[in-house]
Amino acid sequence: MSLKEITSRIHAAERRAGRPKGSTRLIAVSKMQPAERVVAVLEEGHRLFGENRVQEAAGKWPAWRDAYAGVELHLLGPLQTNKARQALEMFDAIHSLDRPKLARTLARLAQERGDCPDLFVQVNTGEEPQKAGVLPADADAFVQECRDLDLPVKGLMCIPPVDEEPALHFALLAKIAERNGLAWLSMGMSADFETAVALGATHVRVGSAIFGARG
Ligand SMILES: *Cc1c(COP(=O)(O)O)cnc(C)c1O
Repeated sequence: MSLKEITSRIHAAERRAGRPKGSTRLIAVSKMQPAERVVAVLEEGHRLFGENRVQEAAGKWPAWRDAYAGVELHLLGPLQTNKARQALEMFDAIHSLDRPKLARTLARLAQERGDCPDLFVQVNTGEEPQKAGVLPADADAFVQECRDLDLPVKGLMCIPPVDEEPALHFALLAKIAERNGLAWLSMGMSADFETAVALGATHVRVGSAIFGARG
């Protein structure tokens, strides 16, 4: 699908849900994509991208940021504390804040810098043992812990289990965000972004539907 087509599907989903047009931001997930596909999307004028790994992003994005003004880059994948400093320097938002140790490290580094990316707390809505994220039952306390550290937590993020109805997970995430006064919801990928928009996503993370299968 083209970027245009995805955008018009997002707008249609917003309209069906009675939401303002453009209230969902499209993060083009460029991880593991050939450079020419990413450049094509930059040339179309899109500026908001997501990457999964600090290292991979560090190898690609400095040059593209120089070449294209206004690029905004979000980290979507797990963040190790030893990469936190580099992540703060490179990303405008981090969607994978998921544990106290990382929160404390980010808080210390952000204080040093006097600046911090926007943060999303990742919630493991499916309670999958192998998946990152705080458990739904621990989310309120963790959000409070982050706020006590003066971290700019703006929203929540989830990746639903592959074999379950995503709508249930999106609805749960929205409920947790609402009771914590968080305005942003990062949810929905190539297969389910319209469902996510219907349930209030402010950020959808779409990779293969824009760029094609990853190499
Ligand atoms: C890879 C990835 C995406 C995009 O997945 P697609 O199915 O290609 O749209 C979104 N979010 C996260 C966290 C990812 O790792």
